[in-house]
Amino acid sequence: MLKRRILRVFLISLIVLLFIATGMTMFVIENVQKNFEAEQENYGRMVEQISNLYSQRMNSVAESYSIWSEFYSYVINPNKEFEQKYLDIDYFTKYGIDFVAVYNLDNFVYADSSDERILKYLKGLDVKNLKNEFHEYDLPKSFNFPIEYFVYSICKSSDVRRENPVGFFVVGNTYDLSDFFELRKLANSDVKFSETLPNRDSKMLNFAKTLKNSSGVTVGYLNFTATFSSYKYLIENIIVTVILFGAVFVIFITYVASYLSANLINPFSKIVYSIENGTVDNIEQYTQRPDEIGELSRTVKVYLNQREEINVYLKELESKNSSLRRLNEEVRMLLEKDQLTGLLTRFVFNSQIERLYVSSLADSMPLSVIMLDIDDFKKINDTHGHLKGDDVLRRVGSVILKNTRMSDFPIRIGGEEVLILLSQTELDGAFAIAERIRRKVKEEFHSDVVNVTISLGVTQLNGNDTIESLLKRVDDAVYTSKKNGKNQTTII
Ligand code: GH3
Ligand code: MG
Ligand code: MG
Repeated sequence: MLKRRILRVFLISLIVLLFIATGMTMFVIENVQKNFEAEQENYGRMVEQISNLYSQRMNSVAESYSIWSEFYSYVINPNKEFEQKYLDIDYFTKYGIDFVAVYNLDNFVYADSSDERILKYLKGLDVKNLKNEFHEYDLPKSFNFPIEYFVYSICKSSDVRRENPVGFFVVGNTYDLSDFFELRKLANSDVKFSETLPNRDSKMLNFAKTLKNSSGVTVGYLNFTATFSSYKYLIENIIVTVILFGAVFVIFITYVASYLSANLINPFSKIVYSIENGTVDNIEQYTQRPDEIGELSRTVKVYLNQREEINVYLKELESKNSSLRRLNEEVRMLLEKDQLTGLLTRFVFNSQIERLYVSSLADSMPLSVIMLDIDDFKKINDTHGHLKGDDVLRRVGSVILKNTRMSDFPIRIGGEEVLILLSQTELDGAFAIAERIRRKVKEEFHSDVVNVTISLGVTQLNGNDTIESLLKRVDDAVYTSKKNGKNQTTII
């Protein structure tokens, strides 16, 4: 019971703690999200700066192109073969230029680059629409990253105002892989070029740098992505915290549970067992403890010892009680049963006559009474001795008992006088019983040394009777039998 309650408390606290942990985690995640946004912003600023710096570098290259264009404008003479040695790419690479190309007003004339793809691209370039001082980013079909080029007009040296170009000179460079590597290194990011704006990844830091040509048209985006460091760090922290927290909680619960089990639940179980079984052996070990368990064990021990004493006392009491009951029964028997004849005593008469009298009158049930007296009993005593007299009394009693019903009350009311109360018996019935007893007594002593007879009187209770008048009437009946010669029954 207690164990289950403690387990429930643990379970509830675990759930509460889990809720708190979840809440904390959500709070942390929210903070992480905020951090992410802040970091994203910082990252954006940082990468922008880097890419701007990079652009500036590109622009400075472009600036140098302007100077070079001035220089080469007079080199190329449409009337002569142009001096190809000056257009050799090796010559330009030291200035950071990757490709050069020359066009007259209509057609491609010459191009040089170390990259076949760029040569092909330059040959197909439509110069008709190109303008002087044209700066462009382009992403040719077979390229993974854009190229950047500048277009300068070629004028005769006499055309000082540069109003009538005779062709175009194109220089440029590629955002080659090394550039990207450089950008990656600087921004500590992965850098990719894409023509459309890339999707943002919520778990990564993202920054897209728009690439525009000199006309302001967007040619693509440089997409910078980097790992969101604090996100990863915080997630790791949360996982470690949750694992540590869980482990500490499990250890705590295990410790507390075993502590409670050993110090509280087990003692309680043993105390309960002791109380139920009445044995103190189980709790003996706890009685020396100074805490509440010790106190309880001592109290229970005292209680159990007292209970044992009470049990012994109760057993004694029980045995005394049963012998008292037996004694009581004997006393009652002695009180109610005449020892010599086996007939009922005057004590029974006293306790029953009133009840029979009242109930018979109330229920209008007949109540008859027989009284008998042994004839010349004095003489028997005198002639044969008291022992013989007692024997006669016993045998007369036995005859009376044999000839009455269980519901009748045959009572020895005097020395050799017997009164028989017969409930629910009419006078005729009572007379028949009296006569039967008389005959049986005579028969009993038929072959004896003494000839024993009895005189009887019979009467029935009537509505005007008192107990006294009833008894007087039956006594008178016996007296009449005696007067008329004994050994007979008189009805009154
Ligand atoms: P009657 O025919 O007129 O009744 O004459 P009786 O001799 O029987 O006269 P009574 O009834 O007065 O005598 C009763 C005698 O019964 C007196 C007494 O000695 C004797 N007796 C009474 N109780 C006992 C007893 O328990 N044992 C013996 N042996 N005799 C008893
Ligand atoms: Mg008598
Ligand atoms: Mg008599």
